Amino acid sequence: MYLSSDAEIICPYCGETLTLFIDYSAGHQSYVEDCHICCRPILIDVDLSDPEQIEVYARPENE
Ligand SMILES: [Zn+2]
Repeated sequence: MYLSSDAEIICPYCGETLTLFIDYSAGHQSYVEDCHICCRPILIDVDLSDPEQIEVYARPENE
């Protein structure tokens, strides 16, 4: 299992692809990251339930 990795997400507001650095050693996590392009807050959700298939979700903060 990786301890950390880059992950690509799509900004739910402007559709730009962002590369995030995810620290998997922190376990399942969700946090807010401002889009680098449009500066709106994106809710990032890291699902580590399957170490072979780590999922990173990006959602609008107010949903
Ligand atoms: Zn954006």
